[in-house]
Amino acid sequence: MEKTSRISGFYRLSPQERLNAVKEFAGLSDEEASIISSTGALKYEQVDRMVENVIGVMPIPLGVAVNFLINGKDYLIPMAIEEPSVIAAASNAARMAREKGGFRTSSTGPFMRGLIQVTGVKDPYSARFVVLAEKEKIMDMANAVDPVLVKFGGGCKDVEAYVKDTPHGPILVVHLIVDCRDAMGANAVNTMAETVAPYIEKATGGRVYLRIISNLADRRLMRARAVFAKEAIGGEEVVDGIIKAYEFALVDPYRAATHNKGIMNGISAVTLATGNDTRAIEAGAHAYAAITGTYRPLTAYEKNADGDLVGTIEIPLAVGLVGGATASHPTARANVKILGVKTATELGEVMAAVGLAQNFAALRALATEGIQRGHMQLHSRNVAIQAGATGELIDKVAEAMVREKKVRADRAKELLEQFKRQSSPGMRTP
Ligand code: NAD
Repeated sequence: MEKTSRISGFYRLSPQERLNAVKEFAGLSDEEASIISSTGALKYEQVDRMVENVIGVMPIPLGVAVNFLINGKDYLIPMAIEEPSVIAAASNAARMAREKGGFRTSSTGPFMRGLIQVTGVKDPYSARFVVLAEKEKIMDMANAVDPVLVKFGGGCKDVEAYVKDTPHGPILVVHLIVDCRDAMGANAVNTMAETVAPYIEKATGGRVYLRIISNLADRRLMRARAVFAKEAIGGEEVVDGIIKAYEFALVDPYRAATHNKGIMNGISAVTLATGNDTRAIEAGAHAYAAITGTYRPLTAYEKNADGDLVGTIEIPLAVGLVGGATASHPTARANVKILGVKTATELGEVMAAVGLAQNFAALRALATEGIQRGHMQLHSRNVAIQAGATGELIDKVAEAMVREKKVRADRAKELLEQFKRQSSPGMRTP
């Protein structure tokens, strides 16, 4: 019989029944099926409630980065990630940062933007003023749908409006600025945007299409900085190497993408470990990196008056401690306890520090590898000269040793003899 992915009522089956159907479709062995269905700390029914069409779980290693000193407090950082070296690199960078007091953080507060797209407005600039004049009323309507958020000190705090040109003429975009407190806020903000939309339609005479949160969380910026003592990281040359590596990312988006990917190695791992929305965080980070119109690195590096390296990061991090999987996933809850963070903003600031540590570690590795190669090349020339090489044979022997990764006197002598034989007149082809 032909295999088909058109499986009517798949969603109505139990996870085990779905798994059986998939097993048959894909020809999975009993062992493979049982691997998929071993749900570990989670119960099958729990997973089934989290997403649709569940057949099992996909376990990811969970490690803990150590050595983090942030605002004078020690943190252990749970990281869920499949890539090796990330957790070790973060721990190593955090150790180096400790010498000068670790990381210092700050933030803008947990504000998100809810967008309301108003189309077909005849006089959008005038409509914009109408909306802004109705600000208080709009905020009251939005806040009325989330008394819990308001009780915790959050809620809609401001309204902004912008006219944007589109291929089908101008649209008015109304922004609800919502203090989300300890929630990531997507559901809260979307509900508010949906609630005020009919009123905005009436006030502007337009037609509302989208009512949705923006992941470009530029009012939820987390900042971290750290000083890395030059002696702790390998000397002045390493400081200069890291600054040069950063400057490369500053002027070249091809490099900046990978520079920022390194930052997100750390940040995404903590996002996942705490049950937060990795896609929201990634989208926000990269959109913010391009907010000037040019894609730029999310960190910066400079040298202070003592010649030490100063690293800084500024990144939007819409993470929560209530709502979503942060509340429903038992491992995420335990990980939040390991972190010991009390607010979503504290979590965001810690994550910014992790991002900076991760990026510093990557740049240091890249810069010192380059420096190391340079040292090796110099060293190999000296070894070649000591072995008796002269003239152009110095570089030939040196390069061969570096290529073979055997920079040694005995090998230099062998290579020298070999090159001499090859270049002697008797060996030349007529
Ligand atoms: P939520 O709606 O589950 O919880 C937030 C609510 O919890 C608040 O509205 C408030 O009523 C209540 N609350 C209780 N204590 C609070 C406190 N101390 N601080 C703040 N609120 C408190 O979750 P959410 O954070 O609104 O939405 C997050 C979920 O939305 C995530 O699962 C995310 O993946 C998903 N999502 C994301 C997007 C997007 O990023 N574009 C879109 C849709 C949904």
